Parts: sequence; structure tokens; C-alpha cells
Amino acid sequence: MPQSGSRVAYRTCPLCEATCGLELHLDGDEITLVRGDRDDVFSHGYLCPKGTALKALESDPDRIRSPQIRRGDTWSDASWDDAFAEIERGLTPIIEQHGRDAVALYIGNPNAHNLAGLIYNRVLIQSLGSSNIYSASTVDQMPKQVSAGLMFGAALSVPVPDVDRTDYLLMLGANPFASNGSLLTAPDLPGRLRALRGRGGKLVVVDPRRSKTAEEADEHLFIRPGTDAHFLFAIVHTLFADGLIDLGTVADHVDGVAEIQRLAQDFPPEAVAATCGIDAATIRRTAHELAGASRAAVYARIGTCTQEFGTLASWLVDVCNVLSGNLDREGGAMFAKPATGGANTGGEPGKGRGVRFGRRHSRVRGLPEFFGELPVVCMAEEIDTPGDGQVRGLITVAGNPVLSTPDAGRLDRALGSLDFMVSVDIYRNETTRHANVILPAEGALAKGHYDLALYSLAVRNVANYSPPLTDLAPGQMPEWEVLLRLAAIAGGQGTEADPAALDDFVVAGLVDKAVRRAHSNVEGRESAELMATLGKRRGPDRVLDFMLRTGPYGDGFGADPSGLSLDVLEANPHGVDLGPLQPRVPDVLRTPSGKIELAPEPCVGDVDRLRTSLDRATGNGALVLIGRRDLRSNNSWMHNLDVLVRGKDRCTLHVHPDDAARLGLTSGARARLASTTGTIDAVVEVTDAIMPGVVSLPHGWGHDVDGVDMAVAGDHPGVNSNVLADGTLFDPLSGNAVLNGIPIRVEALEAGAGIAAG
Ligand code: SF4
Repeated sequence: MPQSGSRVAYRTCPLCEATCGLELHLDGDEITLVRGDRDDVFSHGYLCPKGTALKALESDPDRIRSPQIRRGDTWSDASWDDAFAEIERGLTPIIEQHGRDAVALYIGNPNAHNLAGLIYNRVLIQSLGSSNIYSASTVDQMPKQVSAGLMFGAALSVPVPDVDRTDYLLMLGANPFASNGSLLTAPDLPGRLRALRGRGGKLVVVDPRRSKTAEEADEHLFIRPGTDAHFLFAIVHTLFADGLIDLGTVADHVDGVAEIQRLAQDFPPEAVAATCGIDAATIRRTAHELAGASRAAVYARIGTCTQEFGTLASWLVDVCNVLSGNLDREGGAMFAKPATGGANTGGEPGKGRGVRFGRRHSRVRGLPEFFGELPVVCMAEEIDTPGDGQVRGLITVAGNPVLSTPDAGRLDRALGSLDFMVSVDIYRNETTRHANVILPAEGALAKGHYDLALYSLAVRNVANYSPPLTDLAPGQMPEWEVLLRLAAIAGGQGTEADPAALDDFVVAGLVDKAVRRAHSNVEGRESAELMATLGKRRGPDRVLDFMLRTGPYGDGFGADPSGLSLDVLEANPHGVDLGPLQPRVPDVLRTPSGKIELAPEPCVGDVDRLRTSLDRATGNGALVLIGRRDLRSNNSWMHNLDVLVRGKDRCTLHVHPDDAARLGLTSGARARLASTTGTIDAVVEVTDAIMPGVVSLPHGWGHDVDGVDMAVAGDHPGVNSNVLADGTLFDPLSGNAVLNGIPIRVEALEAGAGIAAG
């Protein structure tokens, strides 16, 4: 039943990694006002324009509210039973005739902020049993997960800068004044960076673009796209050459220092300066500042991941943190300790199995899997290349790979050739328009929220749960049930499987595993007793309660009555503060050696490639394309909200004045961009905020496509930059796509020329 009357409720914003607390004013089930929650233990009242847009997102008339089935070009509403029956008719024959690999799954970025997705997508993956699992991770952060796994033993053992206590922050390829942090959960990161400077600290930004963050920094260094690893190796070289090595508190837990010293010999600042576009004296000074600061950290993000040396750059960030004595100390780069636990809190402290990659390979190109998924640069070819194991069916969950992944034109055509496709999504967008069935997720207020993944990357240990604020609207189904019913169909159990029974099975499996696991706080307990204690909650809330209770601060089902449970979080609507980050080495390590692996073999083996790239010609007039982020945009999926897209066109091509003069480009005119994979036309914006030889276009745009049902986005279409991204360019250590540093040709267009198809 809809609620009546006015009320105020508190909720964590689900829209980005910052986890800001929102104060929602509601009239019945309708949001009337969104404010920052001043009492939130982490965000203290901060919110950005996207947070206030939650009101518009919830009431967007273009959102899909009931299942839809496509016949030809015609879409019609359907009952849930009819929709699942259609899915069974579509998927089951593909699996029976062509095997499980013939159905692929793509998981989009919003799942990182979605409790149901984080828990039940795993069930779907297991039930489907396909090798063709893809996600937005390989157009985003996979290099950092790979380097963290190799160095520290787990994918989410990513050190974050202790930004509230540091005195010096060297930041590469990140623009938190627009994105508010990534792999770095810190509400109001702009405010925290200003506070760093306010207490006398220094912020240095390294970026091919003078972003808003660079403008706010003490120093900005322009760097050629794709050369962050060269720059960081020169820092490492200088630390050794100038006697600045100090491993600090982790000294007894590091293997591979001598190997790093040997490798760094080939990267003196003078050798990399021309490649990076940063002079040797500046590189050397930066190394001395890093080593000399009382508390310092190196942090790098998307620009350093989405490039050909993404894993090497991600690795060298933490090599610098270790060698300068800043890993695992206050004000340095530290590990969070999330309340729900994870790979680096469970099992034997200080030792583990580490990570393994390449347990299977893609069919067409033979690229290896990483953490259970194949690189998304393979997805189009796996669909459009005939042969045994060809992908003929696809499931997407909250993803829009046609706008987010490389060689977008080819992928778009490939999706049109599928035998069957089903999407779980709130919009009929550039990707889901190809689906045969779209299943909507419930509204954000009708489900519980907890940032299961993001608190592993937080600059302070906190836990904050948001309970459902409204009932399900008529005709809606909880997303966890949707995913379990899809899992049942994919697993061959058909449409009659009971999601409640499946959920019981999932939870019982988790409980059984925990009671058998050494060092668990429920080791040796009776599974049935724990299941009974979990009570009436169902779906993600029950799983969350279990994870909290068995996590590092948990009540252990009565073992520690003062410990955490979901009841405790429900009683604290502004969150529970678990304190500042604490040193965690060696307990956090899960490498087989029990050491920090400073020189893991895959990284060492890739250094030759980096060394060879020093000989590449630079400054020959060739242009490369990079992306950029805007405060009011969030990848591809928030462009249908007028409150965020109105005003100045944000999908413009930034060009340096020197390049503009050479190419005859002027602000407001159109230019044609061509790469090896496609051609698009974009509006030019001449600015000296971009370095010569580099042009920048944001991704996630290109909404003027037939069959998309997003009216506002259609009025502000922009162009799809990923039409230009070449799927043959990727980081070999992680499979991550190269989206920054795409070789490109740009030419002026005659006024009035149309937009070319991708
Ligand atoms: S910074 Fe992120 S979490 Fe905070 S209000 Fe904005 S979108 Fe929401």
C-alpha cells in the first residue's frame, strides 16, 4: 500500500561511489525534496547535483515499469509470467542446441551500487555456466584489481589514499571534482582535497587535461596519454638513484625490492621525459617531494587504467607507495576494513591463495579471463564470428555496452544479429532496444541499499544501511527475484522455480561455508541455528545481515553482543562510524608467500613492452583521443534527466588552440573524427585546458538512435565516442580496453555537414 502524508527519511545515494547520505522529504511515496544528510557519519551533509536528481530519476516517465516484449519493431507491456515464459522459449533452445557458452552475460556499472545485483548476479553467473561473462570492469578498473591481486592477494585489496590525514597527494588520471572519487570512496572528496591544502599539504595532479581538479591543485603536470607507467618508473628510478628508499613499517613484509631496482635502471627521468612530456628535473623533484613529505600517497584512476599500460601503471602506483614508506601508514595509502568482510578479512590472516588468471580463454582471439570474466573487447567478435561456441543469446543487467565499450558500431550490429536477448534495465536504451524482453528493476526507494563493494575502498571505515522506504509499486518485482528467476531459467529449472526456495538455498550455502571455514567467527556452529537466527528477512537483506554478523565487526550470532548486525544498522539511520583506517599489514595480505609481492611475474614480464615504447616517435602531429568526466553526467545512464543535461552542451570535442589552428577548427564548428573502427562528427570546443596533440570527448553519449525510448536524452544526443575505440587495443595484463590514447584523425567539416554513422 502506498504511504500517505509527509515524512523525512535517510538514505545513502546509490548513484556513484561516494555513498553520500541523503535526507529525503516524501509526500506519500513521492520524493518532494532531496538534501544532504547533515548527520550522516561519512558525508556530513554533502551532495552533488546528481544526488538531487534522484527525485527526477524516480519519477522519469520514460522508465520501464513493467516487463516489455518486442515483436519485430513493436514493444508491448507484458505480465511477469508471460515475460519469463518468453525468455524460457528464447534462451533454452540456444543452450540445449549450442551449449552454455552460446549465451553471454554483460553486467553494467550500476550493479556496483546495487545490493541485489552484487549478490544475485553471482547466482545468475553460476546457473548460466557460460564462459562468456562480461562486465564494465574491463572498460574501467580491471588493471587496478589485477595489480592489487598480484601484489596483495585479492582483487579488492586496493590501497586508498588516507586523504584526510595526508600531507602530499600525487594524483594521476583522476578528476574527483567531477567524479567525486573512484576506487576511492570519500563523500565530498573535493572538500577533503581542499582541506588537505588548507592544512599546508600539497596536491599534484598529473593529467593530459587541466581538469577542474587540476585547476584546484597546487601543481598540474600535463602528461601524454598512456605514459603514466613511464613517469612512475622514473619516480621509482629516482627513489633508488638518490637514496630515498624507505619501506617504513612494511619493510619486513615486502618481497622483490632488488628486482624493482634492476627494472627501474632503464627508466631514468631523462629517458622518459620526451615520452611523457614532463621534463626530467620535474620528475626528479616530484620523487623527492613524495619521499620527503611526512605523510604522502600516490593515487591513480581511470585515465591510468584505460590505456595500453594500465596494469603496469596501476602496479607502479603502489610500488611508489611502498618504496616511499607510505603504504599502510596513517596519511599514506591504506586498506579499508569493510564491515561485511571480504577476501582480505576471511580465512587465515596474512596468507592466502593469491589470484590466478587465464583459467579459460575467449574463443576467437584467445584472450584470458580475469576474475571470472572475459575482456569486453571480445564481446562483439564472439557474437558475430560463426563457429562452434558462437554467442547467440545475451543477458544484460543494468548495462549499455553499445555506448560504453569499444568498437561500438560493430557491437551494435552484432546485437542486432542475436537469436535472443533479455535485459534487466530501467530504460529502453541503445543496447536494450535490441532485447526481445526487458525486465524492469523496482524503484530505488522500494529496496534496501548497502554499498557492499564500495566500503572496501573507503577512506574511513563506515557502515550504513538504507531500508526500503516504499512498497513495491503495482506490477513491480524485486530485482533479486527477477535475477533468481532468470538464474532458474538459465540453469534449466524453468519458470516454475520458487525464488523464495532458491533464496533459501543461496543463504544456506553461505552459512554452511562460514561454519566450515577456519578463523570464521561462526566456525563449528550449527548451520540450522544460524539460519533460524536470521529470521524473517529474505533476499539481499538477509544475506547482508549474515555478512555483517560474520564480518570483522560482527556479532558472530551472539558471540559478541556489541557487534554489528542489520538490526544495529537499522537503528542507526545516519550510519555507524567504525573509525579511521588502521594499519593492516601483514594481516590484510592473501598472497601465497604472505608477503607484499612488489615484483609479480606478470608485471615484470611486461616491462620489456614498456621499455620498447620509449622509442616511439612523439610530437609528429598525430592526435590521440581521451575521454573526460562531467559532474552532471554518470557514464551513459543519467542523460534522460533534464535537470542534469540542460544548459551547455557537454559532449564537445576539446582541441588545443595550436591543433585547432593547424586543422582549421573553431569553437562551435563541427569536426569529423576517424579512427580504425569508425567515424563520427562532433562539435569543437577550442581550449588550452587540453595539451597539444590530444583531443577529448566524453563517453556515454550518442542517443539519437532508432528504437531508443528516452525523450530527454534524444533531445541532447551527443555522439558515441566508443565508435572510435578500437577493440584490438587493450592492456594485455588485464584485458582492459584502451579508451585513452586512441589514435585519431580530425578534420574540419563544412558548415551544415551531417553526422556520419558509426
Ligand atoms: S557525489 Fe555521488 S553519492 Fe554523492 S550525491 Fe553525488 S552522485 Fe550521490
